[in-house]
Amino acid sequence: MTDLSLRCECGALQGTLKNVSPKTGNHLVCYCDDCQGFANRLGNGDKWLDEWGGTELFQLAPAQVEIHQGAEQLRCMRMTSKGIYRFYTACCHSPIANTISRKMPFAGIPTSAIHGEGRDAAFGPVKFYVMGKFAKGTPPTSPSPKFSFSSLVTVMSFMLKNKIKGTNIPTPFFDEQGRSVVKPDATDR
Ligand SMILES: [Zn+2]
Ligand SMILES: [Zn+2]
Repeated sequence: MTDLSLRCECGALQGTLKNVSPKTGNHLVCYCDDCQGFANRLGNGDKWLDEWGGTELFQLAPAQVEIHQGAEQLRCMRMTSKGIYRFYTACCHSPIANTISRKMPFAGIPTSAIHGEGRDAAFGPVKFYVMGKFAKGTPPTSPSPKFSFSSLVTVMSFMLKNKIKGTNIPTPFFDEQGRSVVKPDATDR
């Protein structure tokens, strides 16, 4: 089991991702328009997206995420009124985490914010490439147009296993009332 560092680009926000391994999380690339919109809204899409508009993520449980420094830099954005809660930093506009709610044991961390020795081995190979219908051009990764059956099964079993373990909390992203720790920015669509 490997602990890795969570860090925004400028280093004001620092944390730890505990027990990162292919068994405790899912390494994926998502080409969806919501992920692309988020990266572009942060003001520097080219930095956070690959050339086909993909976002590389490692999905784990919120209880594996600890923020030690700079939590006050967290900001939140939802691309639609019912969209997922996407956290980024005020200091340097780095994407930090995508989450659903306090009750859901889910935090998708952009790999751009993950650092440390043994990182690639801890991630393991990419398990799935999804939402390819939004990809720009033809990615060589042959993504599924939406979510493949195996990706759904993998994510559902991850959620179920973590729901039983109760690893949706503690979470640095939601308070006890289930509100995001910072109010989401107004959405414009
Ligand atoms: Zn920063
Ligand atoms: Zn996406």
